[in-house]
Amino acid sequence: MTNDMVNKSVVLQDVRKSYGSLPVVHGIDLTIAEGEFVVFVGPSGCGKSTLLRMIAGLEDVTDGEIEIKGRLVTDLDPSERGIAMVFQSYALYPHMSVRDNLAFGLKMARTSAADIEARVKAASAILKIDHLLDRRPGQLSGGQRQRVAIGRAIVRKPDVFLFDEPLSNLDAELRVSMRIEIARLHRELGNTMIYVTHDQTEAMTLADKIVVLRDGRVEQAGTPREIYEDPANTFVAGFIGSPR
Ligand code: ADP
Ligand code: MG
Repeated sequence: MTNDMVNKSVVLQDVRKSYGSLPVVHGIDLTIAEGEFVVFVGPSGCGKSTLLRMIAGLEDVTDGEIEIKGRLVTDLDPSERGIAMVFQSYALYPHMSVRDNLAFGLKMARTSAADIEARVKAASAILKIDHLLDRRPGQLSGGQRQRVAIGRAIVRKPDVFLFDEPLSNLDAELRVSMRIEIARLHRELGNTMIYVTHDQTEAMTLADKIVVLRDGRVEQAGTPREIYEDPANTFVAGFIGSPR
């Protein structure tokens, strides 16, 4: 299959970000295919969250363009981009049931009651939280809460899911099981997913494509195997843990 036969999902063209006079993202070019699972990995402070937040529209770009599904979204609000984001701190509404937490964003968007019910049902089935719909967040485990947070993204039926270190608040054992869950979700939903982590194991096991960032630049982009077997330089080799 040639490259132009693959549908493009997210395209970044020379995307830059400065805070005041301090550049933190230096000009990123990246094409993500429809359905691809892309992981941004790199040390703390290298610009992963900033890049993801620019794709989400939560942060303005200083320069460059962002396309999602062939549409220029650089100046659009987050709600107009066809994306949904899952954060590290799940920020559920503590006084609302799981059902209402899942439905809240849809009610704000004036989705019909029947459609909301159908979407909540489908999302809670896929996340296996259908038995928890009447509980409040305080009555859930950490893993269950993170499932609800992911459910809030699923009910919006986004083209693209954005995850910013969604598992880093969970203990080691739960991180492994949620990682497997996220891989399953990607298989079942088939959406484009962009996932930020500083965890090499998460990157290697989840990604179709890994983008290794350092100081706001792409050091290397490739499949986990390419990155592992043929690291571009000693930084990538050291970070991913391959022998070079
Ligand atoms: P990562 O997610 O890879 O840890 P970030 O994208 O959060 O990195 O941050 C990249 C750089 O930008 C860091 O040096 C950070 O201090 C800086 N930065 C992030 N947000 C802001 C902000 N709102 N104002 C000023 N500097 C920021
Ligand atoms: Mg971050």
